[in-house]
Amino acid sequence: DPSQPRASKQRFIAGLSQCLFDFVVQLLPTVEELAVKEDVRKLLERLIRTIEPNSRLLSFGSTANGFSLRNSDMDLCCLIDSEERLSATDLVTMLSDLLERETKFHVKPLPHARIPIVKLSLDPSPALPLGIACDIGFENRLALENTRLLYCYAMIDPTRVRTLVLFLKVWCKRRKINSPYKGTLSSYGYVLLVIYFLVHVKNPPVLPNLQQMPPLRPISHGDIHIAEYNTWFFDDIELLRLRWRSANTDSIGQLLMDFFKYFSRDFSYNTGVASIRAGLLKKESKGWQNDLDPARYKDARERERNRFCIEDPFETDFNVARCVTRDGLYAIRGEFMRATRMLSTRPERASYAIAQLCE
Ligand code: ATP
Ligand code: MG
Repeated sequence: DPSQPRASKQRFIAGLSQCLFDFVVQLLPTVEELAVKEDVRKLLERLIRTIEPNSRLLSFGSTANGFSLRNSDMDLCCLIDSEERLSATDLVTMLSDLLERETKFHVKPLPHARIPIVKLSLDPSPALPLGIACDIGFENRLALENTRLLYCYAMIDPTRVRTLVLFLKVWCKRRKINSPYKGTLSSYGYVLLVIYFLVHVKNPPVLPNLQQMPPLRPISHGDIHIAEYNTWFFDDIELLRLRWRSANTDSIGQLLMDFFKYFSRDFSYNTGVASIRAGLLKKESKGWQNDLDPARYKDARERERNRFCIEDPFETDFNVARCVTRDGLYAIRGEFMRATRMLSTRPERASYAIAQLCE
């Protein structure tokens, strides 16, 4: 019976989809964890206001973008609504002193980093068995906007988008290819790859391009720019869910297999730039060719900068994957291939396949 293999493939993919969903659900943060984190945010905000009365402390990154796993760190951004304010460097120093005195956090000020931040951590407690890690930065308005953009994408099709993203986040951590400091890719980079894939590679697309949809009403330049960057995107998700429906009915398992396959062999790493804003771009058109001339850059890392290119959705002159080195990219592609191979053998039990993938 020639339909036999097809039926068994369909069965495997359906089982895989269900297993991926179940796997991710058990890794979501608990209600208690979310409540403790919100309490921490409020406490820190109260303390910061003793230094800068007109400040707000906002969450960004995974705690605010809909892609948070259990025990993920907190990214906080302090906005100061007044003309005269302390420099980020001074704020980092003053805030660190204050937190040392007033709280139980371990405090590490980084006032002279490219982006000055305060790093905090809290020891484990019953409500937070693994403790808490938190970074506080200042005036990082672009990060707040890219968080909101990812959140909107997560909300358009929560089941498929969040399951895929959360699974890949677990997978890349377990496979140790999620360390920008060691030459691989940040979580933010992986999330952008998934959205790029769902908007621009899948046909029909699973997600619309929120940055290219026509606005509902005229918008003024000042409203949609941070520095010189255009941060506009269609953010009325309620309306979008009424008006837009994807013609793509692929299951989560199918999408995951296609994602791995695409980034194993189809994406043009040498010449291509993945852009969620504009689709597949050329490195050349952005001036992001690998510069392999050792005479121009003594530091090997400088030269490595553009091995893998992912355009930031708003800061379009910023390569989110700039930290990926040659070895890092080799490891990442190797993992995409390993995953493709494992899933193509269609193990008897999908739950086993998932465990094996994340081994
Ligand atoms: P995790 O749960 O692993 O912490 P995350 O969603 O918080 O994942 P991070 O990589 O920690 O992702 O990034 C947090 C936020 O910091 C992102 O949402 C983004 O706003 C900003 N960010 C991180 N890395 C970059 C980068 N390379 N370029 C620009 N913004 C970044
Ligand atoms: Mg984070």
